[in-house]
Amino acid sequence: MAILPILKYPDPALRQVSQDVTVFDDELAQLAADMLETMADAHGVGLAAPQVGKNIKLVLVDVSGEDEEHGTSVLTLVNPKIVQHGGSMVFEEGCLSVIDLKANVTRAKTVKIVAQDIKGQPLTLDLEGYRSVVAQHELDHLSGILFIDHLSNLKRELYIKRLKKLQKAQEEEEEEEKEKRQEEPKSRIALKIGKI
Ligand SMILES: [Zn+2]
Repeated sequence: MAILPILKYPDPALRQVSQDVTVFDDELAQLAADMLETMADAHGVGLAAPQVGKNIKLVLVDVSGEDEEHGTSVLTLVNPKIVQHGGSMVFEEGCLSVIDLKANVTRAKTVKIVAQDIKGQPLTLDLEGYRSVVAQHELDHLSGILFIDHLSNLKRELYIKRLKKLQKAQEEEEEEEKEKRQEEPKSRIALKIGKI
């Protein structure tokens, strides 16, 4: 098991359409296990393979929700497809690949999904409410769609502006750290000379 690095917006790999899974082997099972560990470590409730740089149709959906009595329950869906949807609901979403943003998104309230499990066996699922929202969010990732694409242009542009500022501040901080590190050896030399 391993914790994998999660790609962050605007990484172009997050915009690619994922490939169908055709081989259900140990490598696929290992990736799903690593993704599960990565998701738990990041306190996520869903994770799609493209978020860890694997361009294939594999997602995890945590369906345990607030019902802690039944413990953690995570669905592993391979080649998932929404075949039916109904109603609509608004839910505040975030994404492990979109830092520092939560926003309301309108999605279908119920979905019927056909998929395969990690061994290639067919699955049909009916999901509602929160679980339906998480599944739709994860399936979007397989089409290169992020939740910010569901926001108004204005909201998205404001976020992109804020993100650029955040990134600039971070770069400046890193630059300062670098300068500090470069100064250190000099002061050590000075100290040694001082002792002579
Ligand atoms: Zn996401």
